[in-house]
Amino acid sequence: MILLKNCYALYPDPGDPECEPLRGADVLIRDNLISRVGRDLEFPADPPGGSGTGPTRTIDASRCVVVPGFVNTHHHFYQVLTRNVPAVQNAKLFSWLVYLYEVWKNIDEEAVSISSQTAMGELAKTGCTCTTDHHYLYPRGFAADLMGLQFEAADRIGMRFSPTRGSMSLSKKDGGLPPDSVVQTEEQILADSRRVIEQYHNPDPLAMRKVILAPCSPFSVSKELMVETARLARSYDVRLHTHLAETKDEDAYCLRTHGKRPLELMEEWEFVGQDVSYAHGIHFTDEELEMLRQSGTAICHCPSSNMRLGSGIARVKEMLERGITVSLAVDGSASNDASDFLGEMRQALFLQRVRYGADAINVHQVFGLATGNGARVLNFSRIGKIEPGWGADLALFDVHKLEYAGALSDPLAALVFAGVDHKSAYTIINGRVVVEQGRLAGVDEGELAEKANRIAARIQKTA
Ligand SMILES: [Zn+2]
Repeated sequence: MILLKNCYALYPDPGDPECEPLRGADVLIRDNLISRVGRDLEFPADPPGGSGTGPTRTIDASRCVVVPGFVNTHHHFYQVLTRNVPAVQNAKLFSWLVYLYEVWKNIDEEAVSISSQTAMGELAKTGCTCTTDHHYLYPRGFAADLMGLQFEAADRIGMRFSPTRGSMSLSKKDGGLPPDSVVQTEEQILADSRRVIEQYHNPDPLAMRKVILAPCSPFSVSKELMVETARLARSYDVRLHTHLAETKDEDAYCLRTHGKRPLELMEEWEFVGQDVSYAHGIHFTDEELEMLRQSGTAICHCPSSNMRLGSGIARVKEMLERGITVSLAVDGSASNDASDFLGEMRQALFLQRVRYGADAINVHQVFGLATGNGARVLNFSRIGKIEPGWGADLALFDVHKLEYAGALSDPLAALVFAGVDHKSAYTIINGRVVVEQGRLAGVDEGELAEKANRIAARIQKTA
């Protein structure tokens, strides 16, 4: 059991504009659940003849803003190994992809494992407690269970994890962008999609392991694969995800190849609905926003990546006004190039203001994208609030550090408007302390960084 004592400001549901901070409150965590929230809480007494309450631990939260842990809804962990590559620092999406595929085709088991731990470690250190990963690259000769390696990495960090089984079936010879050596046949993809669902997917609302199916994009798979993937996912009641409406080049590709715009194609290919989310969603017309609203399809907004690649500004303000579900995501580490989740919330707030002005969206809306909406997109119905009976996923930020000085008239907004490194003091996931005083618990961060650097040098050199 863990008792968070005397929280400086606790926000049970920071996405709610009416959410007032609880000052001096305590939170009792029992096993993987939030057990009680209130003042002057104590550990319950061991019932007579009971089996014991287990070890107890008290954390002083008197310097901390306490919020539900954040949910990251789009990423490509393996790209940690190709952050900031000089040759594509200034490239647009399609040429960026064509260059990097030649590096990414070299990823092996160690690369998957170490990049996954690195990305999830960074996410946890910036308050994220639940994430997905969109891995769509399966190099020829990669024999290991790729998703199994990722789940092992998640266990090591302590992350609640819902990876996608991504896919690409069109290579250069089919008019696609990737080389032959990183795409698979549709039979391979569908068989492995079925396998990972059966092996790993847990429908429990507080599962540590869920699975999503995610063809890479309309320009990297065939119509048949998209349709069959959607049908397979629905037969198991798992979620669907893909990249959509990220660039104007994608519009042009879809019109040239299929005679339709990307969202029209998705409708035709059965890839819309309340169980579907799209990463990016920048280039939608008014009519397409209405189609999204009617179908209940969600958007995973990636502001840093969209700025980094010059892709455009998603119409998040208008989506929220229309009632479209929008979540937040850092995107892959080759187009961000950080997994700084709290930093991404700041980017989301500011980027909308570039497009729509200073009253475009507020801090509560940004917290809503980062908590409740993210949980909804990844299909976790009992995370995203600090309430008894909900999952014990919390982030604690020490706002009594120098960089927050003078900003405490609104402690919640201070996290987004002020601060320098966006690091949590503690991150708790499923009742386990994963970040302890700003460091990953039980992980040698220096050693992990060294391994990642060694692998990055190797795969970039052989490219
Ligand atoms: Zn992406």
